[in-house]
Amino acid sequence: MFDEKDVILEAKHITRKFPASGGRTLTACSDVSLKLYKGKTLGLVGESGCGKSTFMRFLVSLDTPTEGEIFFHGKNITQLKGEELRQNRQYIQMVFQDPSASFNPKMKIRDIICEPLMNFKRIKASEKDAVARKFLEMVDLPGEFADRYPHNMSGGQRQRVAIARAIALEPEIIVMDEATCALDVSVQKTIIELVVGLQKQKNISIGFIAHDLGLIQSFAHQIAVMYLGTIVEVLPGEEISTSAMHPYTQALLGAVFDLNMDFSKKIESIESEAPSPLDVPPGCPFQNRCDRCMEICREKRPALIDVAKGHQVACHLYT
Ligand code: SF4
Repeated sequence: MFDEKDVILEAKHITRKFPASGGRTLTACSDVSLKLYKGKTLGLVGESGCGKSTFMRFLVSLDTPTEGEIFFHGKNITQLKGEELRQNRQYIQMVFQDPSASFNPKMKIRDIICEPLMNFKRIKASEKDAVARKFLEMVDLPGEFADRYPHNMSGGQRQRVAIARAIALEPEIIVMDEATCALDVSVQKTIIELVVGLQKQKNISIGFIAHDLGLIQSFAHQIAVMYLGTIVEVLPGEEISTSAMHPYTQALLGAVFDLNMDFSKKIESIESEAPSPLDVPPGCPFQNRCDRCMEICREKRPALIDVAKGHQVACHLYT
């Protein structure tokens, strides 16, 4: 399913540390290596604060890792600066959780959608109206919305505008950071359907961050599970419900709400808190919440190893 010749972006050994009070260090990402394939969706899932948003910010050059490199079509983009960095932004766009925060409230939707195209001199001012209408229709909104302001639209409509703006530059990759979590479930579904449809049409690669495994497994081709700054499992999206091996992934799956679930059975949940990223224990980061923890788990950090084609897991149960 995943062919190495289709790798469009590769992150290698990404680590991000932040200085904290008292001379301590907060490790948000630790030795993260992932690949994004042409026309496929990589879902990055984990609890709030696990480092998934920090990692995705490196892909769009909003931050620089402390260690590690990111290659886009084989070119190292971690060290880009100035005009080269600006030009590279055309190819990797981002959609945020709250589109209002990234829109200028005084700008009309026409100008919001066309702003990146104008910045890169792809269109003339006289073409803005027609271009904005074309992209609005592409995201299933009426062309007349070009004359509106963001506050005259619903949350779902604003997120469609954010997607229209992201695709306007015809990027190869779109990173979506919890882009549907603030929306009603029914609106979430229509936004996901829109994204999947646009991906098929334009062969875009998508990096989709979410804390909801149920949502991600419905459309991601590949899923990476992150815990306390490290990747604990990577596997094809269609296999997650049958083949997940890591105790944390299994716990996340056990907590996925499903209308058809058997309510006579206990719904699994992870009751205890994750340790602070300021105080990551030696050994396995999941040890204090794992009911299968062994002596070795407290001493040695498990490496991410191949267990099947396209499936990697970091757990001493499998070493
Ligand atoms: Fe549990 Fe040990 Fe596996 Fe960590 S390495 S998930 S503590 S069994």
